[in-house]
Amino acid sequence: MLGLDSSELKEVARACGQPAYRGDQLARWLFGRFELALDKMTDLPRAFREQIEAAGYVPGELAFVADRQTPDGTRKVLFASPRRGTLEVVLMPHWPDPEAARSDPQGIRPERVTTCISTQIGCAVGCAFCATGFSGFQRNVAAGEMVEQVVRMQREAGHRISNVVFMGMGEPLLNYNDTLKAVRILNEEVGIGMRHLTISTAGIIPGIDRLAAERLQLTLAVSLHAPDDILRDALVPINRRYPLADLKAAMKRYVTRTSRRITIEYVLLAGVNDSTAQARDLVRYLEGLNAHVNLIPYNATDAQFEPSRPEAVEAFREVIERSGRAVSVRVERGRQIDAACGQLRRRLAEGGEAILEKDPARAREAVVAARQARSAEQGKALTGAKEHDGAGS
Ligand code: SF4
Repeated sequence: MLGLDSSELKEVARACGQPAYRGDQLARWLFGRFELALDKMTDLPRAFREQIEAAGYVPGELAFVADRQTPDGTRKVLFASPRRGTLEVVLMPHWPDPEAARSDPQGIRPERVTTCISTQIGCAVGCAFCATGFSGFQRNVAAGEMVEQVVRMQREAGHRISNVVFMGMGEPLLNYNDTLKAVRILNEEVGIGMRHLTISTAGIIPGIDRLAAERLQLTLAVSLHAPDDILRDALVPINRRYPLADLKAAMKRYVTRTSRRITIEYVLLAGVNDSTAQARDLVRYLEGLNAHVNLIPYNATDAQFEPSRPEAVEAFREVIERSGRAVSVRVERGRQIDAACGQLRRRLAEGGEAILEKDPARAREAVVAARQARSAEQGKALTGAKEHDGAGS
């Protein structure tokens, strides 16, 4: 039922021989009070509730499998779906005073609360550093399951969820229709502002163009992770199909049609994509594009890739900042609970082994290719060192 908007819930009411306003009542219970038990929807006639059940509609269907929490309130929940598979959801309160929040997370109101939801179980994109990619694609997540991830976390959060990022397991633009349906329900029914909804893509150009045509005011985040095609082919294999030049053209079309700035996500991997020369390449690549860069310290949970050293992160950030482009470094959260979401590798929760361990050979291949590409680039960079130095100063 969480995949139905109020007009569709009215249809459900009418199909049960009830007046249409019963559909609005249902919507208020589901999206306003986050109530998932029909027998608690006490202003609905019992007969109607029984008809709903008999027709096979269920308010929610996900079951808790695991729940991990850090002292700052970051929380990762694993849900099992009766339709098949498990879904990860991360909840992140953002505190005005993180220190005080650590000692008393219940006593302080967060400035905002973000939840990161999954749009697919597994993922076909296969990014080299992502455990979801290694597990392969299993199925698309339905719109109702996406909304339920938010509703279930809202019931747990204790504070109103203000932001939703479609950045968990899966590539949202490869599950376009359900993702957009969930976006509309979260915006129109649950009341989360469109600008507080973020869709993150690895760079699926037809999906970006389709989304641009919708002219929604949501935030589009593009996971770049490399400033050149050789390295990006190794890290984000969809780049072979949608290379950087074409991706930039698509991002420009998106900005033109929506007047929205794009967020460029860039996970920093030590010795792979974190040199200042690569930062300068990134600056050059982004020239002429209205985009903010979000640097993401890698949440290392395996031995294949390592997080960049803090000084490398700072040097990379400085190069971008000096170019005049807006840049931020994502605050690291939830390292202890494997809370890396979407663009980072992840583990199955309690009792699970790293999915990456299922295919270490492929992971090693990817990192060797990435490092070879990096060496080749360094060779080029040495040849053109003067030019590079000039560009960065
Ligand atoms: S980072 Fe995102 S797009 Fe890449 S494999 Fe993981 S879930 Fe898929």
